[in-house]
Amino acid sequence: MIINSFDFRNFFINFALLPSNLSFSNYFSTMKFVLVGFVLLFTICTQALSQKDSAPKSDKEIESIRIVIDAGHGGIDPGTEGSKDNLKDEKDITLDIALKVGRFINDNYENIQVVYTRKRDITVSLEQRVAIANETKADYFVSIHCNSSKKKEIYGSQMHVHDFTYRKSTKLAQLLDEEFTTRAKRNSKGLFNSKDRRFNLYVLQYTNMPGVLIETGFLSHKQEEIFLNSDNGQEIIASAVYRGIKNFLTASGYKLVEKEKPKTEDKKMTAKKENENKSTILVSYKEKNLPPTKAKNPKNEKVVYKVQISASPKKISMNHADFKKLDMKIEESKNEEKKGVLTYKYTVGKVYTIEDAFILMEYVQKKGFKDAFIIKEDRE
Ligand SMILES: [Zn+2]
Repeated sequence: MIINSFDFRNFFINFALLPSNLSFSNYFSTMKFVLVGFVLLFTICTQALSQKDSAPKSDKEIESIRIVIDAGHGGIDPGTEGSKDNLKDEKDITLDIALKVGRFINDNYENIQVVYTRKRDITVSLEQRVAIANETKADYFVSIHCNSSKKKEIYGSQMHVHDFTYRKSTKLAQLLDEEFTTRAKRNSKGLFNSKDRRFNLYVLQYTNMPGVLIETGFLSHKQEEIFLNSDNGQEIIASAVYRGIKNFLTASGYKLVEKEKPKTEDKKMTAKKENENKSTILVSYKEKNLPPTKAKNPKNEKVVYKVQISASPKKISMNHADFKKLDMKIEESKNEEKKGVLTYKYTVGKVYTIEDAFILMEYVQKKGFKDAFIIKEDRE
């Protein structure tokens, strides 16, 4: 928050400049000047103090707003997996959309600060997400996810809040939903709270500020999956989220300060730079328990890492007790190792950095697959 206050710097500059060429004979007039200066200072100070106490919020008072943009899942937790190898997992789509939302905000507004819970494909626990939001004292929390259903024909967006009695969360959800319905032309399924869901959403339950979890669409629905994978689809979703947030802030009485638009040639570069600077906040915090990883964009990666947990000359049932312990999707592949000898290989995960592969491997080893190891595959 910026309080209208007396500009001390200017005062002292004026104060110091004026008497610089005074001689000793002018001592008294100097003293007079000093005295006048102090009286002036005293008056202004008392005025400033009383203003802070009693004056109503002036039009010029600009608040800084901090918003957490939470890309669901990540790292060893893929969320809903892509239906084909060349289609992204939920964790990749939520990250793409979250970064686009952040970029829209950073490009357009001076006094909205974006805090990401992750900026790349890393593992962040639900507890860490909540801690990032609470410890940065964020004003609002927006979590981005993709849905999935056994009924493949279901598609559309959903806005989740913790409870409809939370007025601000519900208002934010309504305005987000409006954008999804009207401008993004999504098949909105409306607003849901914990009573509708019959369960709580951890990140909404434990964050201290108003928040909405957005289910942007169903990856189990063929067309919606393709839409959410496409750059154009993600832009449409991200701009709906951005506009929903903007409309909510305006409706809540915030004064939003627009950024000066750079010239078109420099626009991309400047926007990129600003985004980098603003959003690097807290990266060190959220990653403190994880090994350092190199920033990588999954879109551009030519290889993926998986962890092989088992190999066998015979097919192993997916219902095997050992597999069930993992609670992860297990992939089966057939390989011809030696002449005519088939081997069934079983792997889990799909990550883009060797560091994350190590985290995944350790996780799997702790679950009992002591001989698990990392394999590298070319991406289709
Ligand atoms: Zn999710």
